[in-house]
Amino acid sequence: MPRVYNFSAGPAVLPEEVLRKAADEMMDFHGCGMSVMEMSHRSSVFRGIIEQAEADLRELLNIPENYDVIFVQGGDSLLFASVFMNLARNGKADYILTGNWAKKAFKEAQILGDAAEIASSADKNFSYIPDCSDLPIREDTSYVYICENNTIYGTKYPELPNTKGHTLVADQSSMFLSEPVDVTRYGLIHAGVQKNVGPAGVQIVIVRHDLVPEDLPGVPTMLRFKTQIDANSLYNTPNCWGIYVCGLVFKWLKERGGLDQMRAVNEHKASLLYNFLDESELFSSTVVPSDRSLMNVPFVTGDKELDANFVAEAEQAGLVNLKGHRTVGGMRASIYNAMPVAGVEALVSFMKKFELENGRA
Ligand SMILES: *Cc1c(COP(=O)(O)O)cnc(C)c1O
Repeated sequence: MPRVYNFSAGPAVLPEEVLRKAADEMMDFHGCGMSVMEMSHRSSVFRGIIEQAEADLRELLNIPENYDVIFVQGGDSLLFASVFMNLARNGKADYILTGNWAKKAFKEAQILGDAAEIASSADKNFSYIPDCSDLPIREDTSYVYICENNTIYGTKYPELPNTKGHTLVADQSSMFLSEPVDVTRYGLIHAGVQKNVGPAGVQIVIVRHDLVPEDLPGVPTMLRFKTQIDANSLYNTPNCWGIYVCGLVFKWLKERGGLDQMRAVNEHKASLLYNFLDESELFSSTVVPSDRSLMNVPFVTGDKELDANFVAEAEQAGLVNLKGHRTVGGMRASIYNAMPVAGVEALVSFMKKFELENGRA
């Protein structure tokens, strides 16, 4: 079976070069006589792997010295709680609701304290990003929370919200390392790596050091960011294999010229697809043009039966995992860093053919 073009939203496609390298190093990592999965996380070899991964990540994102970087576990969904526990010092935080993941983060915060909804795009099924230029942010809020790229709905903030001087916290899971970001504009960035960076089971937190509390009474050890910061992410056994593969992806990104270059390629791929969607008689984008994601592209025909036929026929043609999320319906193509331009070209030509065959072009 040849490799398919995999448009899954996550876990998702990884670079072929990275998979080959991981396979090559599987039986014997750099002369150790064992794989990374089998070695102690306290070994000097593994320390080398995690330290190099952090250094490469810092270089890629240009992360300043006064930000900590940790690799953690528990799912990005656990961070919805731990972010609030660590950063909402007075128990108050403000949330912008742009889809399921932002809503889930908001719900966790509501369990733990006083979380306020300050904007939402629920009125139009999250097909746009609300105007964030003058939000009713509470004077004493600890932070303003966004999900910057909405994996399910295919929206992305065209610009960051005006937080009126308050700390910005962003879930960047499905856009992490897809383009350069100015880390200094955020207090905290978190991301599950299974969307754009690596295998499931690792989350990355980038947090400005002065926001990390020294003492957090009542908060379990593993939920305090300081625990893993002080231990360089080795307080307990980390996801060694996952961190190793993330490190290979960081190297792959550096070899390709870093995030400026990734942005150029990602913009090119996304425009191939959006330009076709905007011209098509059959298919259309579900998102307003100004707020479209470069990574997740939902689209519909408007006819459920045709949508289902499309997904099934595409799969036969080696274009897989195109079924949309149940809350949007239709299709969704996730075109992460590792999706080659040829994969998007193949998808667009398949869509053209399908449109002709279905008598709409
Ligand atoms: C997938 C996803 C999550 C959830 O990640 P888990 O690791 O499954 O908990 C959170 N936020 C965004 C934006 C996502 O795309």
